Amino acid sequence: MARRFIVEENDIKYIDKNNIQIKGNEVKHIQVLRHNIGENITVNDNIYKIMDIKRDSILLEFIEKAPKIGEPSIDVTLYIAMLKNDKLDFVIQKAVELGVKKIVPFFSSNVIVKLDEKGKQKRKERLSKIADEACKQCGRTDYVLVENFETFNSLCKKIEEVDNKVLFAYEASKDSLRQEIKSMKENKCKNIGIIIGAEGGFTPDEADKLKSIKNVSSVSLGSRILRAETAALNLLSILMYEMEE
Ligand code: SAM
Repeated sequence: MARRFIVEENDIKYIDKNNIQIKGNEVKHIQVLRHNIGENITVNDNIYKIMDIKRDSILLEFIEKAPKIGEPSIDVTLYIAMLKNDKLDFVIQKAVELGVKKIVPFFSSNVIVKLDEKGKQKRKERLSKIADEACKQCGRTDYVLVENFETFNSLCKKIEEVDNKVLFAYEASKDSLRQEIKSMKENKCKNIGIIIGAEGGFTPDEADKLKSIKNVSSVSLGSRILRAETAALNLLSILMYEMEE
């Protein structure tokens, strides 16, 4: 599979309709992999021919849009609480490999980590970078968007507004995931959200609020309490296996 390079927008200079010049980390990477003038490479969503290689920049000519590879037939959004240490990094990397389309991190009452606005921005940038790297590594062509951190209230509003089916992984739920999957298959559901809580889960009020949202169904992942990372990747794997065509 051809390697894909991801170049940030501010490292791209648009020369004219067909030519771009790229700078930044990927220039070194392309050189290390010994790509030469005249070869085709994929940069972001397009295939380009290498026209010139300089020490700090590479000139590319647009050839065509890259075919979509590795993109699932369903759109899954992962709504996940901020986790301690680098656990969210791990979940995001694996969730991208499993095919998630969008990630919405959030803070709720039992989240232990505290971040100010600057900290949130820095964390989001780091998470986006992890998602980009994971896309590249597993050969997906689309970006996975990591959105801004939501508060619990703004998360609820957001979920209410999307017309997705949203599965709320809740350890106290009596509702079966199998039943929900059956009904999503019958309704040919293509947009699905999943909600995963932090290490301390949700408060009873938060859980009630989530369950009261019309498109949200709480689901159990079994009788054992899973770590948030396990719950997220378990639910995502099951959904991809069951719902992807
Ligand atoms: N509130 C719990 C406690 O402190 O006992 C545990 C929270 S659990 C570590 C973190 C998250 O994983 C939960 O908020 C939930 O989204 C998900 N989760 C863990 N086990 C689950 C299960 N058996 N069924 C559904 N969701 C589960």
